[in-house]
Amino acid sequence: RKLVGKLSTGCTEFDEMMGGGIETQSITEMYGEFGSGKTQIAHQLAVNVQLPPEQGGLGGSVIMIDTENTFRPERIAQMVKGISDKHGIEYDPEEFLKNIHVARAFNSNHQILLVDSANELANELKNTEMPVKLLIVDSLTAHFRAEYIGRGTLADRQQKLNKHLHDILRFGDLSNACVVVTNQVMSKPDAFFGDPTKPIGGHILGHTATFRLYIRKSKGEKRIVKLVDSPNLPDGEALISVTTDGIGD
Ligand code: ATP
Ligand code: MG
Repeated sequence: RKLVGKLSTGCTEFDEMMGGGIETQSITEMYGEFGSGKTQIAHQLAVNVQLPPEQGGLGGSVIMIDTENTFRPERIAQMVKGISDKHGIEYDPEEFLKNIHVARAFNSNHQILLVDSANELANELKNTEMPVKLLIVDSLTAHFRAEYIGRGTLADRQQKLNKHLHDILRFGDLSNACVVVTNQVMSKPDAFFGDPTKPIGGHILGHTATFRLYIRKSKGEKRIVKLVDSPNLPDGEALISVTTDGIGD
């Protein structure tokens, strides 16, 4: 087992709650209502992971499986400007965009297949200056939700989703990369996963560390990120802000 890496979120409180940052070789699930900031955090991580370790990064590139067509290069550029100001270094947004490999998933089967392509790309980049250190699936569940409707198909959907989760976790292990997935939930328990405080895919992931982050809106640009049921960290909450510059304290 390789040494676990930690990726900074850009917010000190958030990093501290995570024991230093988002861990490699684990799945980190961000769930919350529409507009809570899941996609914003995903964009920020896609920028931060490219930074050297001294600046909270993992010196690597990103694969983003985009299921809702919400990836925005302009947003990356704003965030790169944000970290440029923060570190007093002029970073080039184009350089950052080059290292974000976006793949659109058109349906759940395609989404599952894209993990194979992700493994291939990670292999190609393995011995380069920018090995893949982050896989994002935003949203993990949207296609599954849309395609599998009604009680009868619930078991099927769960089985497929479980296999998909195994595949992406394997990706994280093989590449010693962070894996971050998003999942939109209603504020009340919903029919898809039932109680939102229970792990996605039940306990099928077994021994594997999975971090669950519940994100909710607060005043203005503030968001509350709650760490739920972590295997090795105390439950906690962190206050973050989402501004033009990106995710911050
Ligand atoms: P969904 O479940 O619908 O995908 P989400 O959790 O992914 O929602 P985001 O898209 O991450 O939600 O969050 C959108 C919010 O992020 C906006 O309502 C706004 O508050 C903030 N935001 C987006 N872009 C900017 C920006 N350029 N500057 C400041 N805040 C922004
Ligand atoms: Mg989103």
